[in-house]
Amino acid sequence: MASIKNIVLDFGHGGIDKSGKYTTAPNKMFKFPNGEIAYEGFLNRQIGGLTEIYLRSNHPNFNIVTTVKAIDPRDLSLSYRVKVANQLPPLETIFISIHCNASKHHNASGFEIFTTKGVTKSDALATSIGNRIKPFYDKLNLKLRFDFDSDGDLDKEVDYYVLRKTKCPAVLLECLFFDFYQDFILLKNPEFQKELAWHIYQGILNFLIQN
Ligand SMILES: [Zn+2]
Repeated sequence: MASIKNIVLDFGHGGIDKSGKYTTAPNKMFKFPNGEIAYEGFLNRQIGGLTEIYLRSNHPNFNIVTTVKAIDPRDLSLSYRVKVANQLPPLETIFISIHCNASKHHNASGFEIFTTKGVTKSDALATSIGNRIKPFYDKLNLKLRFDFDSDGDLDKEVDYYVLRKTKCPAVLLECLFFDFYQDFILLKNPEFQKELAWHIYQGILNFLIQN
């Protein structure tokens, strides 16, 4: 484990504050016909927060940084999130942004990993994480897709800001689709969250061992 010292975790969007208000409302949420509501930022914090716990408890030698604390519901600006990463030396830092997906007709499913354009070290990080998640998702019959050319999809342009502006290797994970009920059932399941976070953590670790 040579040169990478800093692992920056970014939990996309806002969480739910003490009064029960979703700070990113009315965006990045979805109400199902049965009345249940999925809040993307809340799910991002749950999954990402578990990834953070695995890293912190097993690797005290790494500097684990979060752009926003998992318990902090504020929807911090993208420029602030990038600033947190860019304050650290790019050659010694990796950035992992954790999101869940949505689609126009609320009928898409699966996992996607995005990186910046062109061949960069981010691709190796994405491959490392994807290779860990793939067998887990295969078992559950879920799709997994890499996208090393993250542009052209306007819906996602906002989230991609963090990929465009960070100087270190950076990936953005879209864990599953929060607006698709079968995916949402998994996303909110604590056991699924733990297992997914574990595989994300293992994927990060694989990358660190090679870099
Ligand atoms: Zn998002």
